[in-house]
Order: sequence, then structure tokens, then C-alpha cells
Amino acid sequence: MSRTRPIVAIDGPAGAGKSTVARGVADRLGFVLVDTGAIYRVVALAAERAGIAWSDAKNLGDLAQKLVQNTSIRFEGTRVMLANEDVSIAIRTPQMGMGASQVSAHPEVRAALLDLQRQAGKDGGVVLEGRDIGTVVFPDAEVKVFLTASPEVRAHRRYEELVAKGNKDVSLASTLEDVKKRDAQDTGRAHAPLRRAEGATLVDSSSLTIDEVVAKIAALAKGET
Ligand code: C5P
Repeated sequence: MSRTRPIVAIDGPAGAGKSTVARGVADRLGFVLVDTGAIYRVVALAAERAGIAWSDAKNLGDLAQKLVQNTSIRFEGTRVMLANEDVSIAIRTPQMGMGASQVSAHPEVRAALLDLQRQAGKDGGVVLEGRDIGTVVFPDAEVKVFLTASPEVRAHRRYEELVAKGNKDVSLASTLEDVKKRDAQDTGRAHAPLRRAEGATLVDSSSLTIDEVVAKIAALAKGET
């Protein structure tokens, strides 16, 4: 496959700063950003509304397939759409993060969402962020990064983010618990577990600023390092 512009795959655990970093890299390079976690969050939200349990693999797989077939999951600029509804805010709650983590453990759901992600990235000039972009979705991505940070640093960042968004019923302790629980779920699952892809550059953001991380990844994409 030949692409004139690269695919940049950024994987890593919750709270490593992926979303902010991926947006920064996309802006700096003039690339499109695809937040694949948002796709799983939309499925979790749609399931809840349809009365389908996050543990119900069969019905979740069918639902995900239907959502893809009907092009119900779309990115419109920075907005995330479920059919004609802007769900950008509704999918960002800790509850939907946990739901996404649960629904994404089912191979039926992952399979249904694979093509959607590949279509979004195949022409290059794109930054995809998620958990299995470098390992499963685009193992041939030109640039692969595994972005991580210590659980404490990640919990702290996520907590500040939630508070800034006006979330009142969160605590640092519960956020740390959440981060650890999601790590265990994401790395321990049988299908497409979170791990560093072959050839991925490890970036630990614990003691780096966002700008430093963005600059580092942009340099990789430009072939400067
Ligand atoms: O990145 P974000 O927190 O939005 O992801 C929510 C959940 O979706 C993650 O905890 C993970 O379980 C799942 N996910 C995934 N594969 C991806 C992106 C997200 O399994 N490519």
C-alpha cells in the first residue's frame, strides 16, 4: 500500500494525554484526527438507550453492526454524532468510559467497528488514537507511538479534566481506582489487549509537557528522528 502522507497511530492507556496529544499532532501536521475511543463510547451509549447490557456480546455486536451500516456513528469536525444527535458531551462521562471499556472487550463489537476505522484512515494524512491501532487496525502505520504515564499522573490529569468540565461527584481517589480498573480491563482482555505494537516508539509523558510530546511525535511523522 502506498500513501503519500503517513498514518500516525497513537495507542496507550486511559489518561496518558492521548486525546490532547493526538489533537496537537493532527493540528501541527494538518492531518485529520480520528478518536477511536469515541466510537466505542457511542456504542456504549446507544446500548444503554436500547436497553442492551454492556455484557451482552451478541446483541452488542448486532447493534454495532447496525450503527455502522446506517452510518449512524460519524465525526463532524470535532463533534461526535449518533445518527443526527450531537453526543460529544454525553459520551465523555466516566460511566461511558467504563461502558466503552466493557463493550470493547467483545470481539463481535471490535469486528463490527474495524472497517469503519480502516476506512477513516486508509488514505493517510491522519492521526488515529486508541488502544489497538498499531497492533490491529493499522499494523502497517508509518508512525506508531505507545504513549503512557504512571497511573498516579494519569489519574491526576483525568481528575482535573473532569473537574474542569464541571463534574462535581468525582474524587482523586475514585479516579485513580477507575484508571487502574480500566488498565486491568484493557490490558487483560483476550481480544486486542492494550500492548505496545511492534516497532512502536515508547513515549512516557509523566514528566513531559504536552508540547514536548506533540513535538516529538510530529518529528517522528516528518521523519526527522
Ligand atoms: O480513549 P477512551 O477513554 O475514549 O476509550 C474508552 C474505552 O474504549 C477504553 O477504555 C478501551 O477499553 C476502549 N477502546 C478500545 N480500542 C480503541 C479505543 C478505545 O478498546 N481503539
